[in-house]
Amino acid sequence: MSKRIWECVQLEIKRRKKYLEEHGTNAYSHRPGSNPFASKIICGDCNKVFARKGWRSSTGVDRKVWQCSERYKVKGVMGCANRHEEEETLIKAYLMAWNALVENREDFMEQWT
Ligand SMILES: [Zn+2]
Repeated sequence: MSKRIWECVQLEIKRRKKYLEEHGTNAYSHRPGSNPFASKIICGDCNKVFARKGWRSSTGVDRKVWQCSERYKVKGVMGCANRHEEEETLIKAYLMAWNALVENREDFMEQWT
């Protein structure tokens, strides 16, 4: 491995360590194949990670929602007051961001071909 690549890897290790400390989590990702948003959704109010919860409505329908990990850190006491987000909304937002990136890349490529 070249010295330059080794240095880049050291920077990435540092960046991830800082990310874990800042956002109050212990893993950079968690089963990314089935749970790609784990450790990636950051609370706009308190800067900690959101966690996935399964909610069952009165009609028996399962919903996946994401909630700030600080919200009920102490049982029965509301910590962070930020509201939850539906997983469906996160998927839509992700796809919008991804499509914008891909479109920009195409614009970028056209400039050079
Ligand atoms: Zn929060």
